[in-house]
Amino acid sequence: MSKAKAFILRERRFIEVDRRVNKILESRPTLEGAGVRLKRAFGHPEVPQLDPFLLLDDFRSNNPSDYLAGFPWHPHRGIETVTYIIEGVVEHGDSMGNTGKIHSGDIQWMTAGSGIIHQEMPKQIDGTMQGFQLWVNLPSAKKMIQPRYRDVTERMIPEVKVSKGVMVKVIAGTLDGLEGPTKDLIVDSEYLDVKMDPRTEFVHSTKKGYKVFAYIFEGKGFFTPGKETGKQNVILFEDGEKVKIRSGEEGMRFLLISGKPIGEPVSWHGPIVMNRQSELIQAYQEMEEGTFLRARKNVDDE
Ligand code: FE
Repeated sequence: MSKAKAFILRERRFIEVDRRVNKILESRPTLEGAGVRLKRAFGHPEVPQLDPFLLLDDFRSNNPSDYLAGFPWHPHRGIETVTYIIEGVVEHGDSMGNTGKIHSGDIQWMTAGSGIIHQEMPKQIDGTMQGFQLWVNLPSAKKMIQPRYRDVTERMIPEVKVSKGVMVKVIAGTLDGLEGPTKDLIVDSEYLDVKMDPRTEFVHSTKKGYKVFAYIFEGKGFFTPGKETGKQNVILFEDGEKVKIRSGEEGMRFLLISGKPIGEPVSWHGPIVMNRQSELIQAYQEMEEGTFLRARKNVDDE
């Protein structure tokens, strides 16, 4: 081996590899719940491309008739639902007797585990209602754990100025030594809300082997040099050690989410996501028989 080649091989491990864009997914209009008009960034058809993530819904509207019907009583099993409200109020209640409101800037990280029946009802009547719901899959060994909630209010979420004109809210994960309020997650994940002034750059290290995607909800930017992408698009990255992102002329705001893939079979029907078809059949049978719910009390680690 030549000296030059030996040098390159030795040094390469110190160089972080940029993640390139694997693909861009355009969100699609979807009717959900009791008639909520929203944009689905990704969902069932994309499995397993975003593993450990299953679904991302973007609801944004100035028209209450688009969302007031809400998401009345429905079950979940085998997943976590992460609701992040940018603007507006969502009222929730569940089978364990929990009730509460999620306000602008708040997050609810709910582990459905063995099963929960809940409702999620947007309450905003004027102005803009905007938020996201992400579904995180659970590994088979954790699908039937006790349900739990993490209710995080806006003031618990640290905001970091990472570079000139770039502000990041750390919902989960650690940035510049600041840890987000949702800790000890079952699937190791990072959830950032990144706001960039016009023509600024954001470079961020990501764990190798983890799935990383961005979802733009304001403005435009460059995830590949020379190619601008606008809002309501998912940018799915290839593997690597960091992402390098530039904002366009009007600035940009996006979610940057990463997680450790689970790599197990996915059997998914409606709000229930298991590994095998037989487990889905069992869940629906239990619902019919009234034995679906295992937990009656709230388990809250806050
Ligand atoms: Fe739900």
